[in-house]
Amino acid sequence: MIKSAAVSSRSVLVDPHGRTIRKLRLSLLDACNASCLYCMPEKRLFESLQRGLPIAELLEIVARLVHYGITTVRVTGGEPTLHPDFIEYMQRLSQLPIERLAFTTNAIRLHQLLPQLESTNCRHINISLDSLQESGFKRITGRAALEAVLAGIDAALERGYTIKLNCVLMRHLNDHEIPDFLAFAHRKGIEIRFLELMNIGIAGDYFQQHYFSAAECLAAIALHTTVTRLPSELDATAIQYQTEQGARFGIIASESIPFCQHCSRWRLLPNGELRACLFQSDGISLCACSPAEFEERLHTVLRRKPTERLVRQEQDMYQIGG
Ligand code: SAM
Ligand code: SF4
Repeated sequence: MIKSAAVSSRSVLVDPHGRTIRKLRLSLLDACNASCLYCMPEKRLFESLQRGLPIAELLEIVARLVHYGITTVRVTGGEPTLHPDFIEYMQRLSQLPIERLAFTTNAIRLHQLLPQLESTNCRHINISLDSLQESGFKRITGRAALEAVLAGIDAALERGYTIKLNCVLMRHLNDHEIPDFLAFAHRKGIEIRFLELMNIGIAGDYFQQHYFSAAECLAAIALHTTVTRLPSELDATAIQYQTEQGARFGIIASESIPFCQHCSRWRLLPNGELRACLFQSDGISLCACSPAEFEERLHTVLRRKPTERLVRQEQDMYQIGG
């Protein structure tokens, strides 16, 4: 249903199950400068720089979606900071009437981009950090770049950005680092979110061996401290906790405690394809539509959003935008 809100001139996107869509993940490109085990297969196909829409066309679609009620845009990829127009995207997204503009990055290039980022309204950065050890970092990401990432985190904190760390937990690879991650985040005054490995693309090859559940994560933390659950927004992906020392952390338990029933997210790919769900491999193109066609396509995507977690996504995360 697309209905007019009494409190706003915008239309509001409400799906047949009463979920209001308000968050957009915008993938700028599929290319990346890392090769994370769970995301990037050896045989990769970067297509978006050839097939992606020109900046004006992709932003026009985002602006139309904002008109229909999107209030949060998180830019992602691939590695969004590699897009040649990354800063221009962030500047132009800053002109839209949205409540929050953010991006997710591996932070390898963050330090050098921060001065230019000041020209945007973006104050929120999600940074992937799967190991605090140089060898573990290189093994998981394929890059010897821990130092650059840590420098990027410090520089962003100095500039006053709100940072959240994303850490995909994997048995035998980084589960032993959980106390170190918590201490690191607490020391820096930032929130860390532990993600369950998702059964997406190449991660399927590692799933049996490396999946580490939210319950196991909590049990590992409980060996060291007492944990209290905190309230969180209904459509939040992370369940929030606080340790007795005051360290805040979240757990994104996409596999063991899926959050589909309250999901408020859509995904827009670099080619202008809109997807209702991370686990669906086909979307609807929003390119070159008349206003009536555009609205009709939004209706279709609203109807397509599943309420239960689909078991597996064959495409890789870099192709969709995590
Ligand atoms: N390149 C950026 C980065 O790594 O932050 C943004 C894109 S990346 C695809 C977005 C997020 O998806 C990262 O935090 C990454 O750890 C997560 N991710 C990718 N594949 C995943 C998987 N199979 N399971 C869980 N999280 C995954
Ligand atoms: Fe690149 Fe992000 Fe995928 Fe790692 S998770 S390979 S940094 S897109």
